[in-house]
Amino acid sequence: MDRKTISVALDGPGGAGKSTVARAIAKKYGFTYVDTGAIYRTVGLFVRRADADPHSPEAVEPLLPGINIEIEYGEDGQRMLLNGEDVTGLIRSPEISMYASAVSALPAVRAFLLDMQRSLAARKDVVMDGRDIGTVVLPDAQVKIFLTASIDERARRRYDELKAKGEAQSLEEVRADMLRRDKNDTERAVAPLKQAQDAVLVDTTQLGFDEAVDAVSKIIREKTGR
Ligand code: C5P
Repeated sequence: MDRKTISVALDGPGGAGKSTVARAIAKKYGFTYVDTGAIYRTVGLFVRRADADPHSPEAVEPLLPGINIEIEYGEDGQRMLLNGEDVTGLIRSPEISMYASAVSALPAVRAFLLDMQRSLAARKDVVMDGRDIGTVVLPDAQVKIFLTASIDERARRRYDELKAKGEAQSLEEVRADMLRRDKNDTERAVAPLKQAQDAVLVDTTQLGFDEAVDAVSKIIREKTGR
């Protein structure tokens, strides 16, 4: 397919540094950063509020027609609107992380969100982060990167992030949640987290922020000449 826009697919587990790196890359190249995890989180929040079982297709599917998600791009980045309400801050709690992970295993939820993600990439140059961007959402992306890091390093980063926001989770709890989400995400039947065959692996365990951004920039340059 002849693509008119540039797409950078950035996949990997939580805490690997995807969002920080994607934000920096978006700024550097003038791309739009699309955080697809936030879209799943928004569905997770809706299901939580409806008091529905996030693992049950029978419970979640009937809710989907009542969910309208809009993404706005402002000075402070991507904002998520759920039926008109700005839920950007509300979707970041550990509880909603688990809801997002559960609902994301449901094929109907993934199908519901697929067009939204594809149409964003069709309209503008994007760096899109998620779990299945290079494998399912944008299989013809010009640049595919799989960003990872050791579980200890990822847990430490997420713990620091949550602590800065005043969330009271211990490092052990963060690590256990992360392992549970890794397991859900890699073992689900539909669009599991895995490295696309043509993705370049970047391990950020030993890399600082600038080094990670440099590593990704180098791959973008090699693939697109930018
Ligand atoms: O990236 P983030 O941690 O915000 O994603 C929340 C959850 O949404 C992930 O644990 C994963 O289960 C799900 N997700 C997904 N596919 C994506 C992005 C996120 O299944 N493309």
